[in-house]
Amino acid sequence: MDSSAGRLRTGPGGIILTRNAAQPAGGSQAGRSPVLDAAQLEVLRRYGREYDVVAGDVLFAAGDVTYDLFVVLAGEARLIERRGQPGERVITAYGRSQFLGEIGLLTGQRAFLSAVASTAGRVLRVPVEQVRVVMAQEPSLSELILRTFLLRHSILTGRGSGLTLIGSRFDPGTRRLLEVLARNRLVSKWLELEGSPDAEAMLRELDVPVADLPIVVVPGGPLLRNPGSRELLDALGLSGPGDTDLPGVCDLLVVGAGPGGLAAAVYGASEGMATVLAEDTALGGQAGTSSRIENLLGFPAGLSGEELAARAALQAQKFGVRIKQAARAVSLSSQAGLHRVGFDDGDAVTAKSVIIATGARYNRLPLARLAEFEGVGVYYAATQMEAQACRTDPVAIVGGGNSAGQAAMFLSRSSADVHLIIRGETLQTSMSRYLIDQIERNPRITVTPRTQVTALLGKDQLEGVKLLDSSQRTSALAVGGLFVFIGAQPRTGWLAGQLAEDAHGFLLTGSNIPQAQLEDREWTPLFLETSRPGVFAVGDVRSGSVKRAATAIGEGSMAVRLVFERLQATGSAVTDPPRADTDSRNAAVPTAKEPSP
Ligand SMILES: Cc1cc2nc3c(=O)[nH]c(=O)nc-3n(C[C@H](O)[C@H](O)[C@H](O)COP(=O)(O)OP(=O)(O)OC[C@H]3O[C@@H](n4cnc5c(N)ncnc54)[C@H](O)[C@@H]3O)c2cc1C
Repeated sequence: MDSSAGRLRTGPGGIILTRNAAQPAGGSQAGRSPVLDAAQLEVLRRYGREYDVVAGDVLFAAGDVTYDLFVVLAGEARLIERRGQPGERVITAYGRSQFLGEIGLLTGQRAFLSAVASTAGRVLRVPVEQVRVVMAQEPSLSELILRTFLLRHSILTGRGSGLTLIGSRFDPGTRRLLEVLARNRLVSKWLELEGSPDAEAMLRELDVPVADLPIVVVPGGPLLRNPGSRELLDALGLSGPGDTDLPGVCDLLVVGAGPGGLAAAVYGASEGMATVLAEDTALGGQAGTSSRIENLLGFPAGLSGEELAARAALQAQKFGVRIKQAARAVSLSSQAGLHRVGFDDGDAVTAKSVIIATGARYNRLPLARLAEFEGVGVYYAATQMEAQACRTDPVAIVGGGNSAGQAAMFLSRSSADVHLIIRGETLQTSMSRYLIDQIERNPRITVTPRTQVTALLGKDQLEGVKLLDSSQRTSALAVGGLFVFIGAQPRTGWLAGQLAEDAHGFLLTGSNIPQAQLEDREWTPLFLETSRPGVFAVGDVRSGSVKRAATAIGEGSMAVRLVFERLQATGSAVTDPPRADTDSRNAAVPTAKEPSP
């Protein structure tokens, strides 16, 4: 939307109100619609301007490329889905001292709902660039805004507002898109072709033949026919800078935006390095698929993967990291101290140093018909998206580690019948004590030991699994979802074996690299450095790392210091290198180039 001018657009009248217009499901009223106090309003006033509005003025509309933060000072504003179209609905209403928006405002996602003044009144409008400054410089407001935005995002996800995917569960394109939507935590709804009158009606309305499916309908935006991830994220304004917007040679390229990569990028940029962060699937990595990470220092109540990813992405933006999304690294070449990483879309980034943080990918079960059900009955993450797909059906989880335990706890909120299936005797050897205690106290979870899943049952959709126990007895278990958490493989294929690996394909670093595998035998690699000078590896992709979010974050942060050391040793100029005794706490300013103290 036009965020520069003080005029607001006038929308059509005749809005249909739903009965519970101001009563969205989920979250307490105070949580999802906090009322700002006088002091908070005063702070926000410094960043925005006030306007009078009349009933019908449009604050922002679905499809707007970006939108600003509005606070209602007098009167009322309504949030509307499908405004001006059949099925128009008011989602909620905001009154005096309440603000509008959800997390997409900060991530740069196109608006997918519209907001309209429903009475004459007055609003405070804070331009989106200024909201980012508020997030960086006003800690108490920033926390309130972030929490509210995340809660609203989760409520809207539950409602299925936002994008609409229409496609068949039997089509690989549909399943791929479901994965992209879920991993990027995009608010969306899936209208399944088979047996959905809504899907048929929408196809008729849009005049789209079944042969063109799957399609994604972006509210107020384009209709996308079987889009790739890049095309979809582009249409939503989320893919980040293209090749031509990137610096010629950056100081640091981080590949992979899980906790390790995000930490490396935040630290690199906060220390003044021109930093690019490239991510194939979604910010947050594996941790982004976790329903609740409970062992991250400083978060006694735990933190969802979604929140971790959102917080880290904000921090990266604040320090000026260039984030390139839907960008899969496919090659690495190095010459004269510069490294060039090629991407699947044909782009390439040249950098003085590279941190590889590509993590690991889940293992799959060796089952017939697995591909048929992946994304539509078989899942590798347990977030709100998957829980929504399983509704209240019984579910089975395979795996005895912490991720399986967390999934069981999370899914037991929506399903009364959660089966945790493990091959071993007990959970004791593979799961943290606190999770075992929670599972033992939870009457909705049944642990089935010494058992394996041997087949997937169901004609058009997953209806159950076949089990085999250690006494060779088989049985069938009726479930609507199978969740698989059985470990992961390193994502190093794109390096084509150029860097030294251990027997399982994880990257060797530092003194663990046999001398014969060093690219330069005279040189000693630093702790997190791979067999190639200037190329580092952190987190789950690194051989010998502790496969945990906190350790990936620690390694990502620490690698930046080592990058500086390597660049100094090779004589590459770097902006303001950090000193070992430097305390960079005061570097928290919203520019990338601000010198460290
Ligand atoms: C469901 C689940 C729950 C978990 N819960 C916990 C927990 O409670 N506590 C805890 O400490 N740990 C937990 N873990 C483990 C933790 O998430 C991982 O240890 C951590 O995410 C590793 O971080 P990373 O940055 O090294 O790699 P990852 O998180 O794996 O991130 C790697 C990123 O790189 C991207 N990538 C891969 N290849 C390419 C490429 N070629 N080009 C561009 N990008 C690429 C991937 O898409 C991904 O986003 C959990 C894991 C899972 C799956």
